Amino acid sequence: MKKQKMSLPMQILIALVAGIVVGLICSVIGDSGKTFTASYLKPFGDIFVNLLKFIVVPVVLLSMIDGILSMGDMKKVGSVGIKTVVYFLCTTAIACVIGLIFANIFAGANLFPDLHDQLGAAEYEPKAFNGFMSVLVDIFPSNMWQSFVNANMLQVIVVSLFFGGSIMVAGERGKLARDIVSSFYAVIEKLMEFVISLSPIGVFTYMAWVTATQGANILGSLALVILCAYIGYIVHAVLVYSLSAQVFVGMSPIAFFKGAFAAMMFAFTSTSSAATLPVSKECAHEMGAEDDISAFVLPLGSTINMDGTAIYQCVATVFIASCAGIHLTIGQMVIVVVTATLASIGTAGVSGAGMIMLAMVLETLGIPVAYIGLIVAVDRIFDMGRTCLNVTGDIACSLCVSKWEGGRKKAGKR
Ligand code: ASP
Repeated sequence: MKKQKMSLPMQILIALVAGIVVGLICSVIGDSGKTFTASYLKPFGDIFVNLLKFIVVPVVLLSMIDGILSMGDMKKVGSVGIKTVVYFLCTTAIACVIGLIFANIFAGANLFPDLHDQLGAAEYEPKAFNGFMSVLVDIFPSNMWQSFVNANMLQVIVVSLFFGGSIMVAGERGKLARDIVSSFYAVIEKLMEFVISLSPIGVFTYMAWVTATQGANILGSLALVILCAYIGYIVHAVLVYSLSAQVFVGMSPIAFFKGAFAAMMFAFTSTSSAATLPVSKECAHEMGAEDDISAFVLPLGSTINMDGTAIYQCVATVFIASCAGIHLTIGQMVIVVVTATLASIGTAGVSGAGMIMLAMVLETLGIPVAYIGLIVAVDRIFDMGRTCLNVTGDIACSLCVSKWEGGRKKAGKR
């Protein structure tokens, strides 16, 4: 009898638990255990994430062009685009409200630690922001190859949209380009399958390293701030994503989270939505999202849809403000919702990017950006949860848009 292969989510779950166990053992051993995970386990996780990063530009480029071409006409592309952006914007605004509600409950009940005396020592060098118009201008590449080399995903998406649309409009004369895209995409899909099959290794090694080196931080003074963010992440996932999958797609919350599990766990350990893209595509496909639609929604989502990041930015803002003795008014909260929504859209789908964009929210409120230094040490722990939520939102959106565009196919059927 042929031996049945263990499913990928199961392999990832086992790798996750084993990683935590090994990480705990190494942290008990002490410094040599921590050094071991950092020097000998983490590099394998890094290799894996590098492999994902190296395929992410061709995956986004080819999958978006292929998705646009499979949709067949620009009207459908426009309709999918509008529904996707509306879903992203609404869910991100809700995420900000959820983040603010929990942050205010925690701050009001004095559950946040008072790090007021550490403000002077907080050091953080923000990146310079040149304003929204220059961000808008930067979305349009002046050199296509540079966008690929720098893995500037928003620019890669713009290039894909222009090429996808132009190949379609070129009709018969664009046939060669169409065939080339579909042939290269078939190749990159095979490569993606191979890299994804290695994901348990990435999950195990990263989890062991994070548990060994950051475990103590969870128990440290910021534990309640982390808890607040995680409550926000969980409430948003259950309330917004599983409910939208239930209401719009007719999928039970259990089926939804089970289907998205592999991508969620992978995002949790890799802390990069962009690197998780190949896994999210696989999950969305298995859950029955239309391939042409998820080929469009997921790359866009991994670049601009960051609800976990928005929740984190709201919680971090309220926490930092309370340490600085600033009480945010309702008007300022509205500003937080707007800037955190924009900041999360501008956040790249890579590790730690959300913290860099937090500077924008603080700056708008006139809170010294250097105070981000208070939470830098535990950013990875925030990042694991927020990336997990970001990716879950992308998958939920691809299912909903598939349904709104005329039905979802049977799970697992191409
Ligand atoms: N790491 C997150 C992501 O890739 C972005 C962030 O840092 O908030 O989705």
